[in-house]
Amino acid sequence: GASRVRDLFAQGRKNAPCLMFVDELDAVGRHRFAGIGGGHDEREQTLNQLLVEMDGFDTKEGVILIAATNRPDVLDPALLRPGRFDRHIMVPNPDLKGREEILLVHTRRIKLAPDVELKVIARRTPGFVGSDIANLVNEAALLAAREDKKAVGMKELEEAIDRVIAGPQRKSRMISEREKKIIAYHEAGHTLVAKLIPGTDPIHKVSIIPRGPALGYTLQLPLEDKYLATKTEIIDKLTVFLGGRAAEELSFNELTTGAENDLHQATEVAHKMVCEYGMSDKVGPLTLRQKETEIFLGRDFTKEKAYSEKTAEIIDEEVKRIVEECKERAKNLLTKSRTKLDRLAKALMEKEILVGEEVDEILKRKEEVSGNKEKSIGQDRTKKSGK
Ligand code: ZN
Repeated sequence: GASRVRDLFAQGRKNAPCLMFVDELDAVGRHRFAGIGGGHDEREQTLNQLLVEMDGFDTKEGVILIAATNRPDVLDPALLRPGRFDRHIMVPNPDLKGREEILLVHTRRIKLAPDVELKVIARRTPGFVGSDIANLVNEAALLAAREDKKAVGMKELEEAIDRVIAGPQRKSRMISEREKKIIAYHEAGHTLVAKLIPGTDPIHKVSIIPRGPALGYTLQLPLEDKYLATKTEIIDKLTVFLGGRAAEELSFNELTTGAENDLHQATEVAHKMVCEYGMSDKVGPLTLRQKETEIFLGRDFTKEKAYSEKTAEIIDEEVKRIVEECKERAKNLLTKSRTKLDRLAKALMEKEILVGEEVDEILKRKEEVSGNKEKSIGQDRTKKSGK
């Protein structure tokens, strides 16, 4: 409320030099006249008070006001005028080093086993923000407590990562043998394609145990956080995305709904290649972004197409071409390494989870049985290969 804002500033002046921090600024700083009812509600009075206090603020007083928000787009423009919050700092998701340091902070109060390497955990958690990491450490501590351990070990932290990524393990969920086979081939497809393309991120783990909404997952670990990607790298990544669907097609000659998320991601990436990265020869080095994302401090949510219908058609064609070419490439790779795919899928069905070294081991195993015909798990194998 307005009186508390007054109070805050009075206290700040009294305690100068000091820093004042307002979290979730959007709760009071929302664009006026935007809400239902409009008019003089309490929030508006609070905001007005804040503006008044900030105006009467002497820079020599030694009080610095900092505020944080996840929604800079909804803030009232008056707050952002020079003389008020005049410096805006974007805080992106933490990088590898940042995550390691955040881990250090959150693990300070728990006992860690000697085998714990926070660097490895940081490497496994790209995309995690501070609160995810806090959550992760908390989960790991709970797991350790549940097993009466004296300290939190690497095992608990790893398990906690999976929990945070995909929700609690759903071991109890019943999956039919046929479904399991399809999932195993799907994940084996991702893994093998990644293995067959040099330079892709190493495989950390592949699992067919359902977690959260995902039926299975293949985890690749980037060795470093990347800020730049080459066209080749993106194409390679797309091929890995589509490896799951390609393996299903190859082994069962049938499509399932399981690849939906992959296809969605692949389409999105291909779209970016064409429209944002200028990586399509047909479209050329243009950015054809629809004006909706990346608008910081604006509130322009209308989608404005910055190109003609004809260009839109070419974009669609190009996106389709890229995705299809990548899928064909994945399928070709898998066809050439069909025995490896079978072996990997079989191992997955037996063990459900394979770590990177196990995958290497399985793939390296010489075709000792190549003379005998290895039993195929895929049903439609002969049909598809036509041999
Ligand atoms: Zn997939």
